[in-house]
Amino acid sequence: MKRSFFLILLFLSFSLSGQEASKWYKGNLHTHTNLSDGNETPRRVVRWYYDHDYNFLFITDHNSLTEVARLDVDPRDDFLVLPGEEITNSLAKQRLHTIALFATTPVMPSKGKSSVEILQKDIDNALATSALVQLNHPLWRWSLTSSEIGQLKGLTLMEIINYNRDSNNFPAGGSRGTEGLWDDLLSKGFQIYGTASDDTHDYLGEFLPSLSYPGKGWIMVRAEELSPQAIRKSLERGDFYLSTGVTLEDVSATQRLYSLKIQARDDEKYTTLFIGKDGKVLREDLSLTPSYAPEGGETYVRAKVISSNGETAMTQPLFLKRP
Ligand SMILES: [Zn+2]
Ligand SMILES: [Zn+2]
Repeated sequence: MKRSFFLILLFLSFSLSGQEASKWYKGNLHTHTNLSDGNETPRRVVRWYYDHDYNFLFITDHNSLTEVARLDVDPRDDFLVLPGEEITNSLAKQRLHTIALFATTPVMPSKGKSSVEILQKDIDNALATSALVQLNHPLWRWSLTSSEIGQLKGLTLMEIINYNRDSNNFPAGGSRGTEGLWDDLLSKGFQIYGTASDDTHDYLGEFLPSLSYPGKGWIMVRAEELSPQAIRKSLERGDFYLSTGVTLEDVSATQRLYSLKIQARDDEKYTTLFIGKDGKVLREDLSLTPSYAPEGGETYVRAKVISSNGETAMTQPLFLKRP
């Protein structure tokens, strides 16, 4: 009798702490090796990320699906190597790149008369291999507008920060940057999650700002375990944030309250912006536990944390039910 009561209590405490049982895993979604235009072997590329406390890495060479099974030397350790292909397409000056994450077979880039037609074919072909699809560096060469992206179906992720040099991530010269593009899409009700990635090409040679090194932009995924299935499920439901250095201990987004817990680093200071429709700043919070209570007319709420060292974290949009 006593024992079964104890077991019931144990079960209750496990089910109540389901969220706490999940952990945060660090990963890079976009990496090249010397099997396309990166300058290091797949094995050494994997080694770099393994040595620098990442938990997962997608190898995403151009128009080829690099075999990853042999690169994951110990499938039981806390590091996963996952398959992907950067479907590398273009139309005149427009660069139309997507990633088929978790692709099972290679995807050939399609032909078409417009950027939307080409990208939609590429996305459909990627989805046919059970992939999850990310749109890459949409403002590289100013390739895409929100009205073009808004016509696409089947995208889950979009790079907000891509650390290749020419990605035009940030607002300047009249452009609102990739974040502005994201807000335009979200404001129209287009649901897509934001990521940061290294788009790594350079592992060797001189340290120059013109090169794309590893370790600059990543995502933190909250998952029940470190397995391809669990990482994928969390990516699909938006349970992750992008980071260029800011770490969050917790993110909680409900219709009543959007709140974060920032992990303070030394004497660094933080500003959190809660952002809604058309990129409007709804609230600015300087604490380590910023929060925002939605009023109902914001369409969506997302959060962006900025540190005094110029690093950032951005969480995913919560779409609000109409009041
Ligand atoms: Zn690309
Ligand atoms: Zn790339």
